[in-house]
Amino acid sequence: MKAWSDLYIPPLDARFSLADLSLHDTATNSVKPLARKSIYRIYVCGITPYDATHLGHANTYLAFDLVNRYLRATGAQVNFVENITDIDDPLLERAARDGIDWEDLAHSQIELFKSDMVALHVIPPAHYIGAVEAIPQVIDAIKALQEKGTVYNVEQDLYFEVRSDSDFGRRSNLSQIEMLDIFAQRGGDPLKHGKKDPLDALLWLAQRPNEPGWNSEFGAGRPGWHIECCAIALNYLDIADGDSTSIDIQGGGSDLIFPHHEMSAAQSKMINGREFATHYVHAGMIGLDGDKMSKSKGNLVLVSNLLKEGRDAMAIRLALLSHHYRNDHMWTNSDLVEAEQLLNEMRIALSRMEVAPTDSTITEIIAALADDLDTPKAIKALRGWLEATYAGQVGGSPGELSRAIDTLLGIAF
Ligand code: ZN
Repeated sequence: MKAWSDLYIPPLDARFSLADLSLHDTATNSVKPLARKSIYRIYVCGITPYDATHLGHANTYLAFDLVNRYLRATGAQVNFVENITDIDDPLLERAARDGIDWEDLAHSQIELFKSDMVALHVIPPAHYIGAVEAIPQVIDAIKALQEKGTVYNVEQDLYFEVRSDSDFGRRSNLSQIEMLDIFAQRGGDPLKHGKKDPLDALLWLAQRPNEPGWNSEFGAGRPGWHIECCAIALNYLDIADGDSTSIDIQGGGSDLIFPHHEMSAAQSKMINGREFATHYVHAGMIGLDGDKMSKSKGNLVLVSNLLKEGRDAMAIRLALLSHHYRNDHMWTNSDLVEAEQLLNEMRIALSRMEVAPTDSTITEIIAALADDLDTPKAIKALRGWLEATYAGQVGGSPGELSRAIDTLLGIAF
């Protein structure tokens, strides 16, 4: 699937050195550095196209955009792959509820998502892959799992034996009871009759009446969600022979830690024998009025609606970056107003001929980002620079600071 249009990213002057990027890894519950490499492989789970793009989504894609920007600034190549789950139960349910064709719903929401990503200055993925277009790869991945003896039938559906992976549960750091509880809450089917283990994951759903299906060796049907991401990651990230893990980062919102990421990682490991990712990285949830933002609660704030109201996309970006990406937090209008004010002050200050020294500010931004994307600290550095400029300090380069903010934080003035 075609991604959104590419962005120009200004280069960072070579005199700024970049430390290794450290990121929080859910599996070890620690912040640890990514080894310096010439190419990084990142897989980020995309949306199911029926409620694009709420601020929770935006928060996740901004976090991984910062990772992408930082790693590129080190001179590395980043192979960034994102999927779009353009066939799944929630999409079919929403289309049925609204009396529209599921393909039309997906198409309209994908276009909306892309325009939101362009407005928010998110670098497009190198490969943006829909579940439907990946069905041949999914079928191959299921066959590979069958060869390993980890697949069984429940009537016409196919299931993956999660216990075939001795590490199952390690990446999400959850106990069996916690996993069962979350699995039931998040669309799993622990009570389905005929499963060997209640946590076993659906790989292929045989076609149901009035639902779409695609032909395969296993009969007509459609892919399960976890194998979709596993197959896309393994096919589009050019896994390197010498690496101990398949990819560097598996990313998404913290609501994907279990079951989605655990399942995808387990399936990938059973296919090629390697641990899936070096880092399992998760962004926090955004709430509104004391509740997590979700379609079921009906309290979604959509980026497209804020843009329609005339809010500045760069201010939306800055408002989200004013919180640490891993912290769950409530979205408030005052965060957006504060971001609009800061953006305005920055624009005015950056248009001056004489400004406070900028090298130290750029260095502070780099150091803050290298430390698990500490954007509040980076923004504090910008406020410090503004104060120094107001105080009459001189010697800085407004053009260079402006470019560095664009390169690293994705805020273009
Ligand atoms: Zn995924």
